[in-house]
Amino acid sequence: MSSDLVWGRRYLMCPPAHFDVTYAINPWMDTAVGVDCKRAQRQWDALVQTYRAAGAEIELLGPQPGLPDLVFTANLGIVDGDTFIPARMRHAERRPETAHAEGWFEQHGFAIRRLPEGVVQEGAGDALPFGDTLVAGHRARSSAGAYAELARLVGGVILPLELADPRFYHVDIAFCPLDARTALYAPAAFDDYGVRKIQQLVPDAIALTDDETRAFCANSVVVGRTVVMPACTPRLLDELRARGFRPVVVDVSEFLKAGGGPRCLTLALDVKLGDSAAAAERWTAHNYHPLPVTVTSALGCWVRDDRGRRYLDALSAYSALNFGHRHPKLVAAAHAQLDRVTLTSRAFSNDQLGPFARELAAMTGKDRVLPMNTGAEAVETAIKAARKWGYEVKGVRPGHATIVVCDGNFHGRTTTIVSFSDDPLARDGFGPFTPGFVRVPFGDAAALAAALRDNEDIVAFLVEPVQGEAGVIVPPAGYLRAARRLCTEHGVLLVADEIQSGLGRTGRTFACDHEDVVPDIYVLGKALGGGILALSAIAGDDDVLGVFSPGSHGSTFGGNPLACAVGSAVLDLLRSGEPQANAQRIGARLRAGLDAAAPAALHEIRSRGLWLGLDLVPGPADARAACERLLEHGVLAKDTHERTIRLAPPLTITADEADWLLERLIAVLADVRAGRRPYPASFAA
Ligand code: PLP
Repeated sequence: MSSDLVWGRRYLMCPPAHFDVTYAINPWMDTAVGVDCKRAQRQWDALVQTYRAAGAEIELLGPQPGLPDLVFTANLGIVDGDTFIPARMRHAERRPETAHAEGWFEQHGFAIRRLPEGVVQEGAGDALPFGDTLVAGHRARSSAGAYAELARLVGGVILPLELADPRFYHVDIAFCPLDARTALYAPAAFDDYGVRKIQQLVPDAIALTDDETRAFCANSVVVGRTVVMPACTPRLLDELRARGFRPVVVDVSEFLKAGGGPRCLTLALDVKLGDSAAAAERWTAHNYHPLPVTVTSALGCWVRDDRGRRYLDALSAYSALNFGHRHPKLVAAAHAQLDRVTLTSRAFSNDQLGPFARELAAMTGKDRVLPMNTGAEAVETAIKAARKWGYEVKGVRPGHATIVVCDGNFHGRTTTIVSFSDDPLARDGFGPFTPGFVRVPFGDAAALAAALRDNEDIVAFLVEPVQGEAGVIVPPAGYLRAARRLCTEHGVLLVADEIQSGLGRTGRTFACDHEDVVPDIYVLGKALGGGILALSAIAGDDDVLGVFSPGSHGSTFGGNPLACAVGSAVLDLLRSGEPQANAQRIGARLRAGLDAAAPAALHEIRSRGLWLGLDLVPGPADARAACERLLEHGVLAKDTHERTIRLAPPLTITADEADWLLERLIAVLADVRAGRRPYPASFAA
């Protein structure tokens, strides 16, 4: 299923107290056909109720005597963030409406920006955003020239399309965005160029038949997955349902007498033109489902979005931002290196790799390191090292090297790595899979012992010391120590994936340190690049990393001087011990605060250092919904699986910031428990 539209949850509507057909300015209007005012009011009330039931907020504009078409708020202008661009109507009968609308927008804090006199542009009725493109209609009403002027006032791309048939006089009778991939469109309303452009823009464009177009099917409004329509046909119903929409047909027959349906009666207030999140939805594959916030700047624990709102980052890019956003020492190291040399490839030496490798070897206590870029590449490197070590040092039968991994593991996304995942979402459809892995339950030393017993082909046990993506699962005390002992006894490498758990997150430099365990291979990533760039590495002794020879492994960017300069600065910060100490201190504070509050919405709290997994009790709100509420309260956090909220703020967080976070967390968990909505915004700034 495609992502919902990023706009279309707040609308301005005007009650039809003065609605009538007293003049004829489009082919649907006939002054001889009377309007049943009471019926119009009932239809309008039902429409408002339908929108609200679907989750939309409706704001009201006061009706005005002598302005019968004021009900068609879509034509009053265009909203772009907190700016309102009043329409310039073609017909004198409607022109006084815009002054009235301007008053409302001014009162509600919008800035007013005007199109020049002389152009005609009839508001959102002729301008509907799809992704980062504004699909704009012209001919019968808006003038083509209006869009060159509009482009001076708004961001994004404007796609002016000629409306070829005078019956479909506004684009909102001919085009209806439904979600990030889908829209209804009426081929009959456009020329060939217009049809081709819409088909290029909309990946899943549903063409309306001529009958459906005449019935105003495109004049619909989508709220989430609910499509509020003036009419629908059985085949269109099927098309919509097949895409996960819930079509709801409303009776707006009184308004159709004036040539307007649900869309014309509704002006979207939450439109941000040229919206980069919408562009990302439209132009990237849908392999993520981000929360609805677009970050434009950040410093320390705080980020700011494109609307100027401030949030505390309690996710830290899955622990890649352990030192916060743009830590001054890390930024300075990057700047200095940017001004010298950024990339050499390993065909030549650079002056940053050696010192970085020496410092990382010292921190891990290992003989040498092998730098890569992403975490998954480092895991792949560890797998290759373990297999080669198995054949060359342990003497495993060729082609039989086997690695033990854990249920619920997450080590990255390459085909080999997803081969041993037990998460159907990560695996399904990506086979054939790489053989040579067996899985045991996480945290169960006896199961590991059983797997290692009498199997000479096993070369390594690959484990996350704390399982991150699984929901911050801390194994029972003694597990890592038992794993270390078992691996040593069976001549098997212990490979610790510390990509998320390492570099201070748990309150120690490595999560293995909690049990004084030293693995044979450390796998590191994320925070090693300081939240500035991708830098990963494995660290091991000569007997293991000695298996690599020139040509046996590599990466163009691995060990590049820019990454190494930042990596060295990261290691410098860690050497002070302060990030680790703060993780312990603030982690304990958050944990104590949560334990004391004992929110009824939670049935388990797991934590190690500044890393928490909060499991919600069964209820109507899942962890995604809770994270959306946290967002409303100025906190960035991310769900994992259905019911776990994961928290991993930067290790630089202060006690005051942690208390601020705790307060919001507890308030949101109370909302979650009570099933309250909507949730008030209470941002820090
Ligand atoms: N290993 C662990 C434990 C991780 O948490 C992750 C990422 O979340 C990875 C490996 C993969 O890292 P990357 O996304 O940089 O490839």
